[in-house]
Parts: sequence; C-alpha cells; structure tokens
Amino acid sequence: MEHCDIHTTLEHAGLSKTSRRVAVLTVLVHAQTPLRVKDILDRVCGEGQINKVTVYRILASFKAEGIIREIATDHGVNFYEMACRHNPTHPHFYCRICRSLSCLPEQVIRESRFEHLLTGNQTVDGITLNLTGVCGTCNLIKDGHRRSKQ
Ligand SMILES: [Zn+2]
Ligand SMILES: [Zn+2]
Ligand SMILES: [Zn+2]
Repeated sequence: MEHCDIHTTLEHAGLSKTSRRVAVLTVLVHAQTPLRVKDILDRVCGEGQINKVTVYRILASFKAEGIIREIATDHGVNFYEMACRHNPTHPHFYCRICRSLSCLPEQVIRESRFEHLLTGNQTVDGITLNLTGVCGTCNLIKDGHRRSKQ
C-alpha cells in the first residue's frame, strides 16, 4: 500500500520535524484502522519520553494543519486517522458495545451530492457521517446468549 512521506507531510504543514512528531505520524500513516490515543501510545516505539499529554498536543497540531481527522464517539474517546489523498473523507461505523470504529466506503459520501442541500454562497470542506450501532461480532455474541437462554 502506498503511504505519505512523513517528512514531506510535516514540511508541507509547516511543522518542524521533531522525533516525537515523526514517531506519531509514522504510526498513523501505517495504521489500517482509526486509532485512539491509547493505541498510538502502544505503537510508538523507541520514544520512551512520550506521554499521553504529548500525544494529544501532537495530534492537535496535526489536526489544525489538516494532516489527520478526528472521529468523535458517544463515549468521549476519539479516534484519529490520516486525512490525505490515500484516505479521502468517508463515513464510519461505531459499535456501542465493543466500542470499535470501522471505516465505510467513501462512495457513500461522493454519491450523496450534499452540495444540492446548500443554498446561497456556502462551500463545504468537510463532511462527517458517523453511524452508530452493534457490530457483526457483538451481534453474534448477543444471538449466542439469546439461544443459550432458550
Ligand atoms: Zn497518504
Ligand atoms: Zn462490537
Ligand atoms: Zn476512517
């Protein structure tokens, strides 16, 4: 899979290439799913000094520069993913039982033609579409429980 170049991304965003920023961005670029701060901390290696506060601060600077997007959930735990040409805006599905977040295909947003809803001189530079429910794994577990009670 193609990835953004870490150093070029930081350069374009006008952020200095500190070892911590490079470490956090490396984790995000290689992630297959959106990550929580906890996941990022688990994956950042060789940076013994990095703590939660530092990760939050780095994520805030990445978000402000449009490098990453933040996906908020009902439980107050946010997820982060790259906001680059390899990963265009798309909807997410959040399971309220196991609290996992998965990415849904971007064509839903492309085909929705949200611009038709706009009146006057409005322009759109971001769309957030998040679905909440119960994931397949949790539904299987629920079904299992139901069956064992019968
Ligand atoms: Zn990319
Ligand atoms: Zn689930
Ligand atoms: Zn996503």
